Amino acid sequence: MENEINKLPTGLIPVNHYLCPGMAETKAYHEFGDFLQQRFPGKVQKISIHAGFTCPNRDGSKGWGGCTYCNNQTFSPEYCHTEKSITKQLEEGIRFFSRKYPEMNYLAYFQAYTNTYEEMSRLVQKYEEALAYPKVEGLIIGTRPDCVPDELLEYFESLSRKTFVLIEYGLESTLNRTLERINRGHTYEDSVSAILRTAGRGIPAGAHLILGLPGESREEILSHADRLSELPLTSLKLHQLQLIKNTRMGREYAGHPEAFHLYSVEEYIDLVIDFMERLHPAIAVERFVSQSPKELLIAPAWGLKNFEFTAKVKRRFKERNTFQGRLYSPRS
Ligand code: SF4
Repeated sequence: MENEINKLPTGLIPVNHYLCPGMAETKAYHEFGDFLQQRFPGKVQKISIHAGFTCPNRDGSKGWGGCTYCNNQTFSPEYCHTEKSITKQLEEGIRFFSRKYPEMNYLAYFQAYTNTYEEMSRLVQKYEEALAYPKVEGLIIGTRPDCVPDELLEYFESLSRKTFVLIEYGLESTLNRTLERINRGHTYEDSVSAILRTAGRGIPAGAHLILGLPGESREEILSHADRLSELPLTSLKLHQLQLIKNTRMGREYAGHPEAFHLYSVEEYIDLVIDFMERLHPAIAVERFVSQSPKELLIAPAWGLKNFEFTAKVKRRFKERNTFQGRLYSPRS
């Protein structure tokens, strides 16, 4: 694949051309939406679910207090309340989208906390409740890399022969020094092991990374792209560092703002593009930013929605006449 990329003249790479022969659209990066389109004939939408699981980094099994940046309220849409059943959450989420897109199918996205941290029978019951809901065509399971026993992966492997399953791992950084500093409670080696064991069973593995964690230089941030490119990853989500109220990191920032580099929008866009140039071109990228609710956010207050930011990134790719993987080279 590298040779194929290197043969292309400077300019945008026809990502879909080499990933999906027959599609001629020219894109600067491999979009997750295109990845889904290759698997599903019609439109699919993720519906976020709060399944009522907890997190081993909060209850003492891996650590106490959680990751220093985490306030779990920030990634749970209104309709994800623990007291609601999976079925009820899907019903409400799907009702919202189906008015506008009656043909749409859905993926149940187990998002909040650690969605593989529970007794196996209870996990399976929740996943299957979601899959039993009409028009739910698969699962996306968000979890930590140190919470995927082989027994569970065996279950996902057999499930993935019948339906779509993607396991999304919160890696956040590839540097153990940073993982320790943010109290993740796992190492990068745990992340590598989880991704290899997942992909080794033919299950798509995704990763989630935060760009701009304290103590990481610009070059260290970009080197995450090199390390992730060595892994059999299907997809990646990038997020800017956000400082959230009522978190340990928020308090650290109040005491030592000089320890943090908060990116401006333009500076972060260039960081993202530099990162993408080094990223393996086959990894589908789902997003570049996250948006925490305004009332919980300390900084940076960019005031941009995800689609607005993505449009800016796409424009910048064009201005810089570059593309995902331009600087990627496999290590020998
Ligand atoms: S970020 Fe995830 S792993 Fe970390 S404390 Fe929050 S829920 Fe737990």
